[in-house]
Amino acid sequence: MADSVNFTNKDRQHKTVFFETFGCQMNKLDAELSLGLLQEEGYRIVDKADEADVILFNTCSVRQHAEDKVYSHLGALKMLKKRHPEVVVGVLGCMAQKDGEAIFKRMPHVDLVCGTRMFSRLPELLLTIKNQGSHVLAIDEDQIVSVKRPVAYRPNFYQAFVTVMRGCDNFCSYCIVPYVRGGEISRTIADVKEEVQSLVSNGCKEVTLLGQNINSYGKGLAGGITLGHLLSELNDLDGLERIRFVTSHPADMSRDLIRTMSRLSKVCEHLHMPAQSGSDRILQEMRRGYTAGYYRDLISYARELIPYIAVASDFIVGFPGEMDEDFQETVRLMEDIRFQNCFIFKYSPRTGTKAAELKDDVVDEVKRARNMKLLELQKSISLEQNRKMIGRKVEVLVEGASKSDSHKLSGRTRQNHIVVFNGPAVLVGRLVNVVIHEVTDLTLYGKPEDCS
Ligand code: SF4
Repeated sequence: MADSVNFTNKDRQHKTVFFETFGCQMNKLDAELSLGLLQEEGYRIVDKADEADVILFNTCSVRQHAEDKVYSHLGALKMLKKRHPEVVVGVLGCMAQKDGEAIFKRMPHVDLVCGTRMFSRLPELLLTIKNQGSHVLAIDEDQIVSVKRPVAYRPNFYQAFVTVMRGCDNFCSYCIVPYVRGGEISRTIADVKEEVQSLVSNGCKEVTLLGQNINSYGKGLAGGITLGHLLSELNDLDGLERIRFVTSHPADMSRDLIRTMSRLSKVCEHLHMPAQSGSDRILQEMRRGYTAGYYRDLISYARELIPYIAVASDFIVGFPGEMDEDFQETVRLMEDIRFQNCFIFKYSPRTGTKAAELKDDVVDEVKRARNMKLLELQKSISLEQNRKMIGRKVEVLVEGASKSDSHKLSGRTRQNHIVVFNGPAVLVGRLVNVVIHEVTDLTLYGKPEDCS
């Protein structure tokens, strides 16, 4: 590991960085924070790897496909590195943590391997490479990552993600996260509050709190702190309009937290709580710690207390031993709960996890067919749910121009629906009431009630 380094003005010379991120929202936020740190050190972000002095990949290990892609990108840089040995190539994040030294062996032209808890030291690691001309491996797991948010890089002015905890202690049998992100560590309420306050002072209206297992926020902090306490404190911040949090784990989601959500006006009526399967047998093999019945009861309770709450989920199809009857249980759960939206994944074994010891016995063709079946079912449910929104007035935080039509504006409801409508640019960053008149399974279209 590199020793601490002092920067000189010469070190802060203008340099360019290309940064590509794979994986989850937490990786995207880590990328945002890393780029902010690098910009503060004088780096300029470029869109093409062959224009950069530093090429960094922030990686994901959740699926093999994402890792293969990174190794293929790294392989493609071999020639460039031969022509320009001064260019620095780095691998950050989960894959770096998981594969460590082995990355240098497989890809000797890589200069930096920087794990999930080290990216706040990125500028000094790059400087060490420059000064010492050697590979740097930085995968210390004991580091507590609490990064001061740099003001330099902020992709969305009105909405921000804030990491409140890192790591996971759950060890679901298919998941690599606890191995690459380490155990759960929560930031203090004061630390999070300071960051959110600073974001709000800079114009931010909505925060999404991030944690791999956010319902166990506070474990390890003194005084029996819970996510409910954090939400209550943030709810009192003047200028902050909306609070979201992801990702909820059913086994760690308490009824007390649902009650807290129901009484805090700024906490949005939206819950992303992955069910993963509707079969109790498979849930047990997955080591999820709940049954489908428990999941149903939680959702009923949330819907009782929070009218219009939107529920999103994740599902894995083709887990080892998943029989057709198990899959039908998943279909039934999806039909009964009627989620707003779902992410559906085909199981792929990750070396080092418990499930990887099981025979991956569901053939790819069956996995694909089950995946397709759930996608189609969810699409029809989303459309049916969205049709119920026609004629309703919804509060939209306007984010900017619509991605599909730059002449229109786009924003999100408290339930996380995407809403597209005609309106003047002055509405960007404001909360606007929009009456919905048309929908697809993915988007609501409407008319703002008041453009004054
Ligand atoms: S709760 Fe389970 S699926 Fe989620 S990060 Fe932890 S181990 Fe992985």
